[in-house]
Amino acid sequence: MENIEKSKLKALSDIASIDISLEFNDILHKILEITCEGTGAKSGTIMLVDELDNNIRMVASYGLPQNYIERVYEAAKKAGVEISSSPSGTVLETGKYYLVPNTFEEPKNKPFNDLPRELGFSSMIYTPMKKGLKVIGLLNAYWADPRQFTDEEINFVSIAASQASSVVQNARLCGRLKHNVRELKQYKENLEDKIKETHKKLYDSERYLRTIIESSFDGILVVDEEGRFEFGNDSAFNILGWPREELIGQFFIKVFPVDMEKFMLDRWHDIQNGNETPYETNIITKSDEIKYLYVSHSQGVIKGKRKYIVVIKNVTENKKLEKKIKEYNEKLEKSNEELKEADNIKTEFISNITHELMTPLTSIKGFVELLDDEAIGTINEEQKKSLGIIHRNSERLIYLIKELLAASYLEKDKLGLHFGLVSINDILSKCILDIQPLAKEKQISLFKDTIPLPAIWGDEDRLTQVIINLLGNAIKFTLQDGKITVISRDLPEKIKISIRDTGIGIPGDQLSRIFERFYQIDGSSKRKYGGTGIGLSICKNIIEKHYGSIWAESDGNGSTFHILLPKLTSGNGVRNVSPGS
Ligand code: ADP
Repeated sequence: MENIEKSKLKALSDIASIDISLEFNDILHKILEITCEGTGAKSGTIMLVDELDNNIRMVASYGLPQNYIERVYEAAKKAGVEISSSPSGTVLETGKYYLVPNTFEEPKNKPFNDLPRELGFSSMIYTPMKKGLKVIGLLNAYWADPRQFTDEEINFVSIAASQASSVVQNARLCGRLKHNVRELKQYKENLEDKIKETHKKLYDSERYLRTIIESSFDGILVVDEEGRFEFGNDSAFNILGWPREELIGQFFIKVFPVDMEKFMLDRWHDIQNGNETPYETNIITKSDEIKYLYVSHSQGVIKGKRKYIVVIKNVTENKKLEKKIKEYNEKLEKSNEELKEADNIKTEFISNITHELMTPLTSIKGFVELLDDEAIGTINEEQKKSLGIIHRNSERLIYLIKELLAASYLEKDKLGLHFGLVSINDILSKCILDIQPLAKEKQISLFKDTIPLPAIWGDEDRLTQVIINLLGNAIKFTLQDGKITVISRDLPEKIKISIRDTGIGIPGDQLSRIFERFYQIDGSSKRKYGGTGIGLSICKNIIEKHYGSIWAESDGNGSTFHILLPKLTSGNGVRNVSPGS
């Protein structure tokens, strides 16, 4: 008896010292094994109530087949009873152990007795595994023979069941803990990923902003509330001409020359009062170079503190350029004044000299005519010829002087025009008649291709002067046996006059220049044909005063001068050119 007691005690101490680092199932199996061996039971089983479906699942067995519990369920099904009607069901319901001294006499076991018969056991102890008042499973031990159980045996199995219950509870707690730890780990990993992602986003956006700030051509500075440089991009320090480390933390006034300090302190107060108007100022670099800056700024709160964000542009080059342009303009203005003065003197001189020349020349011409008319005495043929030459040349001189005079008047805009209704056909016919002798002299044929034209509003004398000038040039620049054609056309709103010659022509690049005052096509022709280079500029001026236009065309067969003049507007009788214009 004492030996039996000893072995039971040993068994209980074995249960207490089971290695708890073993797997949960292995521990239960070990408890069951020690219980069966310690009590001489033939077999046993530990079953747990599933927390989800409340079914009983066998988690450890001793001396029983693996499918034992399924067979118990099968037997219940076969007998048409619930498992709760078995002693196990009773233990689950009452939370108290249940003794079956002889299964074959136990009514609750009747539907299941095929199994003890087959597996060779006849008596059982069913013990609850409890968590508080709740039954979470069963530890059942089965003996081969029918027997009456002693209190020790009952205690032994109950202690084993309570140990098993602790193991299950610990394992479940552990499982939950593991699950929680896993979840926490997962949560931590997610959190870490999120932190990493946020860090990356922050880093990216910081890099993005930094790239923008650093690649800005303009200087960007942050000045703190006291007026100290706090931050600046590379451009800012390049523009200011100071190394970054010598400016950060320094008062902004450091970069200004002494004479700008008052101005800048005033601006500083303006900025603090919210005046964000940009301004220009100059600074002094570390190497004493003066630079001009365009400064704009705004203020904001960074990390809870007021900051001033200042953008600076280097406008030194513009300033220098502006200064140069100003000086240049002043010089230009001055020389323009001088030129005007010289031009006035020249015009005055031309007008005086032409007047001075005109008087003796008119007298010469008068006396030559007197001599030619033999009013003073008879002259021979030889003398008459010489007088003719003197007469022609003095007439030419008078013509040239008149042209010069007209040019000086034109220049001063003094050429008075006397407008009235003018017949271009009459002017053309008269001019052709006047110029005929000159053409004949050079054996140049004059043709007329004109049509009747409406009268226009203009100055007859001046328009005649234009046509005579063009015809004179045509004869002058056309060789012997050449041909000159005077053409007139009636266009909508305008009339067109063209004078075409078969002369020497005009190079393409000179076609517009010949209308400039004193301009003559260079080369030997100038000396050969003489002239002043004034005629066409007078023509242009006169035509433009009639709101018309004049231009020249030239091909290999000579030149053509075209004139367009506006017609009188029809209907209301309003003139398109007023006498005063
Ligand atoms: P001028 O005839 O007194 O030199 P103009 O102003 O009348 O001055 O003419 C300017 C220049 O235009 C002339 O010197 C000549 O070179 C060129 N020119 C004018 N008319 C003709 C023309 N019909 N044929 C060729 N060249 C011409």
